[in-house]
Amino acid sequence: MAKYRQRYHRCMLCDYVKTETEADRKAKAVSLPSMTNGLNEAHSFSPTTGTGPLAGSDPTPPTTPTSTTFPSTKPVPSSTPTATKTTPDGSRIVCENASFICLVPFWATWPFETMVLSRAHLARLSDMTVVQKQDLANILRRITCRYDNLFRCSFPYSMGVHQAPTNDDASHQELSHLHLHFYPPLLRSAAVKKFLVGFELLGQSQRDLTPEQAATRLADCSETHYKSVV
Ligand SMILES: [Zn+2]
Ligand SMILES: [Zn+2]
Repeated sequence: MAKYRQRYHRCMLCDYVKTETEADRKAKAVSLPSMTNGLNEAHSFSPTTGTGPLAGSDPTPPTTPTSTTFPSTKPVPSSTPTATKTTPDGSRIVCENASFICLVPFWATWPFETMVLSRAHLARLSDMTVVQKQDLANILRRITCRYDNLFRCSFPYSMGVHQAPTNDDASHQELSHLHLHFYPPLLRSAAVKKFLVGFELLGQSQRDLTPEQAATRLADCSETHYKSVV
């Protein structure tokens, strides 16, 4: 552990959050001119609604009008033909708020695997402020709603939390970064699952779609549950 600390004196997941947000910012800068209005809404945040400008985000003004295309109708689930593209090519971020980002990690094995990471260095759930707890609830609601809307089904997944041990050992504080994993088995529809077999179990996992494609599919999903749209 001492050697590890000498070599990696910073938290790797803090660096990873920075890397992904920077990649998202660059992808957005490239994609903005050809994007629809939905992009600007999907990558911004309001503490109350989950939409609106994100503090500290790219200050570049949008090049497209900010008014929504559907001002007087309910949001449309993404699996319908009218869904709009909401994430830039090359980004792996699905949704975000002031305290957390949800992304498809570049090493993802499962087609729609995601991670929820705290933006700030938080070692464990019990270290969260009231606002961070609300933001965690916000992003969990949003990603699970997107999952259900993806194939219009009650989307199956295994979800788990990785955090520092809850004893008082301070050595875990700087190396443990609170994050959650979602491992869903579905591949192409509510009925078609991915199976890890043969070479994937014994050698190397094979991607059915790239992390960026998976992030785009999820980001294109509505955050209004399909069952609530009449
Ligand atoms: Zn960290
Ligand atoms: Zn983990």
